[in-house]
Amino acid sequence: QLLQYAPQRFHHCAPRRGKRLVLSRMFQPQKLREDQVLSLEGRSGDLTCKSQRLMLQVGLIHPASPGCYHLLPYTVRAMEKLVRVIDQEMQTIGGQKVNMPSLSPAELWRATNRWDSMGRELLRLRDRHGKEYCLGPTHEEAITALIASQKTLSYKQLPLLLYQVTRKFRDEPRPRFGLLRGREFYMKDMYTFDSSPEAAQLTYSLVCDAYSSLFNRLGLRCVKVQADVGSIGGTMSHEFQLPVDIGEDRLVLCPSCHFSANVETLDSSRTNCPACQGPLTETKGIEVGHTFYLGTKYSSIFNAQFINVHGKPSLAEMGCYGLGVTRILAAAIEVLSTEDCIRWPSLLAPYQVCLIPPKKGSKEEAAAELAGHLYDHITEAVPQLQGEVLLDDRTHLTIGNRLKDANKFGYPFVIIAAKRALEDPAHFEVWCQNTGEVVFLTREGVLELL
Ligand code: ATP
Ligand code: MG
Ligand code: MG
Ligand code: MG
Repeated sequence: QLLQYAPQRFHHCAPRRGKRLVLSRMFQPQKLREDQVLSLEGRSGDLTCKSQRLMLQVGLIHPASPGCYHLLPYTVRAMEKLVRVIDQEMQTIGGQKVNMPSLSPAELWRATNRWDSMGRELLRLRDRHGKEYCLGPTHEEAITALIASQKTLSYKQLPLLLYQVTRKFRDEPRPRFGLLRGREFYMKDMYTFDSSPEAAQLTYSLVCDAYSSLFNRLGLRCVKVQADVGSIGGTMSHEFQLPVDIGEDRLVLCPSCHFSANVETLDSSRTNCPACQGPLTETKGIEVGHTFYLGTKYSSIFNAQFINVHGKPSLAEMGCYGLGVTRILAAAIEVLSTEDCIRWPSLLAPYQVCLIPPKKGSKEEAAAELAGHLYDHITEAVPQLQGEVLLDDRTHLTIGNRLKDANKFGYPFVIIAAKRALEDPAHFEVWCQNTGEVVFLTREGVLELL
C-alpha cells in the first residue's frame, strides 16, 4: 500500500529534534473531554457524530466559527496526502491542475441566473467601489468564461480536463458534523470540455472510473448512485455515496439488478425498482463525490467554443465533477474508527509509524538508545518512510499511557522498545493498528514488515 503512494516529503511542517521527528514538539491543542468539546462548539445536542468528536478531542481540528475550522498539523498532512492521490488519479486521465480565484464577480452569476437561484447559500460581498462578488461555492461560471475567452481553442486540444483543489464557501443553513458539512471547505472540482456529446460521455465515464479507483485505493466502499442535477443542472448525474448511518442522504438500492439512486431523484412513493420492478432497500449515505454531464448548458451562455474539424466554431460539451476533500477525510474517519480510536485509510495516515521508547528511570531505560537507532535505521532503509516516523519522546509518561495515545491517533504501526528490546537479539513489540495484530520482531523483521 505504501508503495502506491509515491514518496513525497512532508518535512516542511514537521517538528524535529536533531534528525528525528519528536512528538513533544508537535503543535496539538490539549486533549478535550466530551463536555469541553461541546462547549467549544457552543452547542449541546448537535454534536452527534464520531468523526467530529474524535477530531476535536485529539486536536486534529479546532472550531473557529460555525462551520469553519482550523485544520491542525496532522489534518494538513492527511489532506496533502489525499490531494496527492487525487492528483495522481486526475492526471492519469489527462487532468491539468489550475487554481481559480475564490472572489467571483456577480455578473458571471447573473448570466446564469444563479445569483438569484442560489439564494442565501451564496456568500456575497462588495468591494470598496461597490462592485458585487460572491465567495465561490463552485466554479462552472468562472471556468466557462475562461474557456470562452480562448478564441483559438481547436478540436485537436480536446478533451480538455481542468481541475483545482480549493476552498469553497457555502452559507449552509445548518453547518454540522465538523468537516462533513462546513461553510468553508475544500473541494476538488474538475470541468471538462469535449467536441461532441459522444466524446463527452466517454470523458464522463473516465472520470467516474477515476473516482472509483480513488475510493478503492482509500479502502472506502462507496456506491455510485443516480442523482438529481440540483442547481448545477445538466442531463445526467451520479453521486458517490459512502453508506453510513449519520449520512444525510437517503439512497435506494436494488439487490437484484444493482440499480441505485438518491431518493431526491425518484418519486418518493416508489418502493419498486424502476429498472427491474424488484423490491428496493433503503440506506443512508454521505455524498463524497458528484458528477454531472452538463451538455452545452453553460457553454451556450458564455459562448465557450472551439474550432471544429470543418474550421467552424462550435459549442463545447461540458461536464463537472466534484469531490469533497475535507468531507472525505472526516467520512473516512467516521466509517473506519472505533468509538474511541481514530483509524485512517493507510494512504492518508498523517504519520505511518510511532516509536515508543521506555519510560525515563524505568528498568528498561537502556532500550531507549535501541529505539533511537531503530528510528534512524527505518528512515534510512525505507525511503518512503522519511518524514513518516514519529518518536514519542514524552518519556516522563509510561509506555502504557503513550501506547493508549498512539492507539487513539491511529498510526498504522506503533513500535515499542521495552524489556525484550534488551535481549539478544533485540525484539520490538509492533502493533499493526489496521489489522489489530501484535508481533515481536527483530530490527530486520521490522524493516521487512514496513
Ligand atoms: P450536499 O448535498 O451534501 O449539500 P451538494 O450536493 O450541495 O452536497 P455539490 O454541489 O455536489 O454538493 O459539491 C460537490 C461535493 O462537495 C459534494 O459531493 C461534497 O462531497 C462536497 N461538499 C458539498 N457541500 C459541502 C459542505 N458544506 N462541506 C463539506 N463538503 C461539501
Ligand atoms: Mg449542498
Ligand atoms: Mg447533494
Ligand atoms: Mg451534490
